[in-house]
Amino acid sequence: MALIKWEVLLPKKFGDKIPVLFILLELIIEIVFELYVVFPTLYEPFSQSYNIHLAVGLFLFFNFIGNYYLSIVTDLTSGPNVLPSVLKPDWSYCPSCTLNTPPRSSHCFVCNKCILKRDHHCVYTGKCVGHNNQRYYMMMLIYLALGALYANYLNIEFTYEMLNSLDWKVVITFFAPVIGWIFGFTQSLSFLTCLQCSTCVVCLMLSLAMIYYHLALILRGQTTREWRKGIRGYNRGWRLNLLDVFGSRWYLIWFSPWVSSPLPGDGIHFVKRDKSLENVKDM
Ligand SMILES: [Zn+2]
Ligand SMILES: [Zn+2]
Repeated sequence: MALIKWEVLLPKKFGDKIPVLFILLELIIEIVFELYVVFPTLYEPFSQSYNIHLAVGLFLFFNFIGNYYLSIVTDLTSGPNVLPSVLKPDWSYCPSCTLNTPPRSSHCFVCNKCILKRDHHCVYTGKCVGHNNQRYYMMMLIYLALGALYANYLNIEFTYEMLNSLDWKVVITFFAPVIGWIFGFTQSLSFLTCLQCSTCVVCLMLSLAMIYYHLALILRGQTTREWRKGIRGYNRGWRLNLLDVFGSRWYLIWFSPWVSSPLPGDGIHFVKRDKSLENVKDM
């Protein structure tokens, strides 16, 4: 397996470095918080419940971090495919790359390359989302939401265990821990505990909103860029649109980001709504 260079992994723009650092730091803080604060309160170390919850947590973490990693290191360009020297309909010329680029691709000035079926540049990965990595990006979001949901479940159990009552003040503390702390509903919980529980609530809401937004576009066969420009020519029906992103073995990608799921398209040629395949002779 080829070694990945640091310059591929690290974000190029300063504006991306802060969100990437925040995501990774928050992930480490969350793991330490659950393992050393929440787990010992709820479960006897290495009991059956402890081991089951540890396995669930590790599975969610492995899938999140694996998809995050692959969405960063995957090559998003046309790679070894030779692009034609004659400009075809729907193709465009990129003066930065000095190449004719396929429909749906566009140049990213942060990544400094033309990205196939470019969706958007993500500040939380420091890379673009496009044809070759959209599956990893979406699975990363899904596992972020599942991880946050699971952390919230543990945190609610933890809060209940600490406060041992269920009145309206406790309910507020469950769902908005920092507000509960500010109004003094939770003297037995520290500010840092409340802050970490609140971060998990915010993380769940944000990840669900992002999944909703991107899934709605995927089902319509649109990229974020096409949605902004009102381009609607590539909708093949929701089933084929989903296969275009998640691949032919979509039912297996839930187990591991390293499960192969070949994409039906190459990111260069697209079937438009009128079913006419663009035939381009490579020159
Ligand atoms: Zn370009
Ligand atoms: Zn980019």
